[in-house]
Amino acid sequence: MSKLTQTLMGVRRRRHASAWERRLAVATARLVEAYGTPTLGNFRNPVKEIFYILLSARTTERLYQRAHSELFRKFPTISHLAKAKVSTVESCVAVAGFGGKRARHIVRIAKLLHRDLGESAARKIATLDPQQAFDYLTRLPGVGPKSALCVMMCSLGHDVFPVDINVQRILERMGAIRKGLPHYRAQQIAPGYVPAGASKRLHVGLVEHGRKICLPRTPKCASCMLLDMCRLGQRTRAVSSRTRRSIS
Ligand code: SF4
Repeated sequence: MSKLTQTLMGVRRRRHASAWERRLAVATARLVEAYGTPTLGNFRNPVKEIFYILLSARTTERLYQRAHSELFRKFPTISHLAKAKVSTVESCVAVAGFGGKRARHIVRIAKLLHRDLGESAARKIATLDPQQAFDYLTRLPGVGPKSALCVMMCSLGHDVFPVDINVQRILERMGAIRKGLPHYRAQQIAPGYVPAGASKRLHVGLVEHGRKICLPRTPKCASCMLLDMCRLGQRTRAVSSRTRRSIS
């Protein structure tokens, strides 16, 4: 299990590996075989990553990547961004949607980073221990546990498991976690089934899988390498073979 994530999320850990932990070890290997370990465009620099994650919510990859590059083209350092006008930031990021709200968060975060950590904020964040980093990041406006864990996984190299919308959907369909859990609960529970050391490979693999095969409305179960361990996939397959039998 991803012990560090559970500690950060304040969850008591089980002592023994569960069946789901073993299944997800197999799933991780299959996902890596299918997709490799793509970077998803993330940054080693935690400051850039904070804004990348902030811009990525509820929009497409192409648009948030465009917004992020425009933001850093116009404001290359944290002090530039801390002094920026919200309206100018809004014009850089509007393409990703929710321009006004995101721009307010971006400027506020930049001011806090600059005030607390100065121009070398990225380097200072990298020296924090995991609990300090999590506590600091989740105090920033618009940065919840999932976003903080993304920064810690992608930029700081910690073995933590963020549960985004793709990850939650697939784990629900597979039957690893209950359907319809509030996101915060899913973020607390799912890391308990993630094999130690596999957090990033599994997270990235599930995100890719959610974009290519396990689509939100129409999962392509017939082409899925996780079919044999997926509750929804098995159910769908049983229904379609019953339908085929009744037609023939
Ligand atoms: S079998 Fe279907 S529902 Fe299950 S993970 Fe694969 S695509 Fe998603």
